[in-house]
Amino acid sequence: MDDFRRIVIVAYRLPFTIRIRNGALTAVQNSGGLVSAVLSLTERMKKAASGTPATTVWVGKGEHDAGQLNSLPEVKETFELVPVKIPDNVNEKFYGGFCNDLVWPLFHYFPSITVFGQGYYENYLKANELFFKELRKVIQPGDFIWIHDYQLFLLPEMVRREFPDASVAFFLHIPFPSWEVFRIMPDGYQQAIIKGLLGADLIGFHTHDYAQHFLKSVRRSMGYDISLNTVMADNIYSRADAFPISIDFNKFHDAVSLPETEKYLTRIRKHKRDRLLIFSVDRLDYTKGFLNRLAAFELFLERYGQMRGKVVFNMVMVPSRDTIVRYQEMKKEIEATVGRINGRFGTLDWNPIAYQYKSLKFNEMIALYTLSDAGLLTPLRDGMNLVAKEYVAAQSEKHGMLVLSEMAGAAAEMSEAILVNPSDISQTADAIYQALVMPDDEKKKRIEAMKNRLRNYDVFSWADDILRTTVRVKNDRKKFRVRLISRDIEERLTESFRKSSKPLLFLDYDGTLVPIRELPELAIPEASLTDLTGKLAATADVVIISGRKREFLEKWFSDIDVTLVAEHGAFIRHPGGRWESSLDHDDGWKERFMPLLDRYTARCKGSFVEEKMASLSWHYRNADEDLAALRAIELKNELEESIQNMPLQVIEGHKVVEVKMSGYNKGSAARKLMTQRRSDFIIAIGDDRTDEELFGALPEHAVTIKVGKGQTRARYSFLKQSEVVAFLTRLAGVRKAD
Ligand code: UDP
Repeated sequence: MDDFRRIVIVAYRLPFTIRIRNGALTAVQNSGGLVSAVLSLTERMKKAASGTPATTVWVGKGEHDAGQLNSLPEVKETFELVPVKIPDNVNEKFYGGFCNDLVWPLFHYFPSITVFGQGYYENYLKANELFFKELRKVIQPGDFIWIHDYQLFLLPEMVRREFPDASVAFFLHIPFPSWEVFRIMPDGYQQAIIKGLLGADLIGFHTHDYAQHFLKSVRRSMGYDISLNTVMADNIYSRADAFPISIDFNKFHDAVSLPETEKYLTRIRKHKRDRLLIFSVDRLDYTKGFLNRLAAFELFLERYGQMRGKVVFNMVMVPSRDTIVRYQEMKKEIEATVGRINGRFGTLDWNPIAYQYKSLKFNEMIALYTLSDAGLLTPLRDGMNLVAKEYVAAQSEKHGMLVLSEMAGAAAEMSEAILVNPSDISQTADAIYQALVMPDDEKKKRIEAMKNRLRNYDVFSWADDILRTTVRVKNDRKKFRVRLISRDIEERLTESFRKSSKPLLFLDYDGTLVPIRELPELAIPEASLTDLTGKLAATADVVIISGRKREFLEKWFSDIDVTLVAEHGAFIRHPGGRWESSLDHDDGWKERFMPLLDRYTARCKGSFVEEKMASLSWHYRNADEDLAALRAIELKNELEESIQNMPLQVIEGHKVVEVKMSGYNKGSAARKLMTQRRSDFIIAIGDDRTDEELFGALPEHAVTIKVGKGQTRARYSFLKQSEVVAFLTRLAGVRKAD
């Protein structure tokens, strides 16, 4: 909390409904959990600062002037509003088009109704730019900038570009679909969305699955490296993780005893009599699965005839987007189905479905949550479904039971509910029955378990979690940046190298001296590289320390004055000398393992086996990334099991699994060489896991440099292989030959 001075929220909507009444503006604060969570964070910041830090800023679409809005009494006390004016013609294609005709259906797995309309993307970009234009005017150092939802995918990157040090979090309130669905979008949109999001330090999703889908899409459409859940590329250091949004638990839990709720409780009890009540409330939307729900309820009445006359299903549909033809048609169809079911089963004094098309007052909703015997929430797809959480929180002494779609994000945290596949009408019909007849003590056990979870992770903990994680990512980003060799560091290193009397250089080959190529045989050194190495070797001890075979290194480097280390330390060749090895060469083991490696090659297109004197390597850099990562783990496990009690070792390098004779590695080779040549300045550069042994074996004062991203023992990093060559070229230029 102390890390930030102020919160800046950016969302499509402002946290107030603004109306003109009798010619004057009025503002009513929206009641969502996000608004409460942000207000609570603001309060805590005020306390922590024990002064009066600026109020929380909220940037959102609005037609009125900032001055007018911020002078309203309801606003003044809470937020500083920054309205973004979006012309109607832009909004139509931005919000109505790109957001609601394209992203909404596609991200909810409705590709068949997704529209890729003319001008949608251009106006989406324009609207994001309009948001940025207002946002940039208010950003100050020490701000926590928190951007919300699918209307603003492009904004984080815009912020990052102009404010490289800003702290930015993004939260997605809808699902992030699997790669197979995401890729339906044109490549340009995919890349724009991903690049836009990667401007944020932290990208939050409701569930672990959504975060994984996103990371997979990053890898697939951008080819960026991902280490655990962190994406690292030039100027990008961004983490994706799950932060399931929650509710203000106490507000829903305590509301049942409010006098305003009592009024509704009495009214509903009177209407309900001794009947069982099933309740659902959702916005009118095709994702919510109204027709499936009705079909399941109809089947339940068919299948469990004894329940007829004893159950009422109160289905509340909240008006939403009903100016759109698709929604109007959907509404008509839902209403016709309700009519048909009521006509089929209803009697003079009983209608099975009480259907309402309206918004509910908060206390009325609480009363319905509390008095219903079952909550029936069966969306076909839903980012979270807050109603499910509210329903559970509002249960008091006599518990109702929750029937919840497994396609709702909430299902990931509510395993004690009766989970159903909303397309499985039969299963849902049975689940309704099960919920109604479940013994009280079982209901209680299940509901209380969910309640405890909600109490412990309410919307305040959720917001806090996002804030704290952003600070952590920010610090990690800094640490990572510190390791990168800046011009200053490079100058210092070059100077030490120049002054040293006996420098020693350990240089890995693939990925360090030359870029990684599709096949190892393609990665041959250009003449300029051998010249450069020769030049360095004229004034320093140079060791090329590689996993390559002896023949390869000898072919390209035997004419220059360098020491060669082949097969990760199995063989050493001093300048002009012969290969030395302390290994006992028994090839029997290779014959045994070759068929296993061949089997993996057959099961993973693009992979191949390389045989060396003291090892067998399975390379997978040209194979499908996900499949190969899985096969690599399997192969490693299988190899580790079968080498027990043999003088062998399994190692992993950059997209390679290798089984090799044990007792040596790059580290042991380096140690041996260091006892033979005294030196006052050591530099070691390498890119993969086998180089970590080398880094670990060197004395404290050695300058160790990792090429690329990811965990390392090295003190410094270069992002790209080409930077190594540039650095070595500088080194070669500063020393005079003896
Ligand atoms: N809600 C409301 N008025 C109503 C019915 C529902 O304010 O008449 C609220 C409900 O309490 C919940 C939200 O609307 O907080 C719906 O959120 P949910 O995640 O369930 O669905 P969404 O509409 O966001 O898809």
